[in-house]
Amino acid sequence: MAGEPQADCLFCKIVAGQIPATVVRETETTVAFRDINPQAPTHVLVIPKVHYPDAASLAAAEPGVASDILIEAGRVALDEKIVEHGYRVVFNTGSGAGQTVFHAHAHVLGGRGLQWPPG
Ligand code: AMP
Ligand code: ZN
Repeated sequence: MAGEPQADCLFCKIVAGQIPATVVRETETTVAFRDINPQAPTHVLVIPKVHYPDAASLAAAEPGVASDILIEAGRVALDEKIVEHGYRVVFNTGSGAGQTVFHAHAHVLGGRGLQWPPG
């Protein structure tokens, strides 16, 4: 069924508590945890508890949860005190764009200057 946990999915395992993560926030529908390979002083991933391969498929199937991801991204930015300086919310989509984990997730990046356009 759409949204069900996938046995071979790293982020479903983090949601289930089968793989440890440094969780910074959790809601009924989302988990936010620190990226294991941070690309900025703040690098937090916000993921839905339901499994969809990318942000667009999540938004199409469960728009309320997609909205929760954006709300939580904003709360992470507030908690991390990166709002004033500016931060970036990124959804890599597809391997050509750098997506390596095919469970929807937002990267929240900040705490340093961020180049535009991104690489
Ligand atoms: P993406 O490349 O956009 O699919 O993002 C996947 C992110 O997950 C990368 O930034 C990885 O560093 C991160 N990552 C992979 N494994 C873990 C883990 N066990 N805990 C936290 N972050 C992870
Ligand atoms: Zn998953």
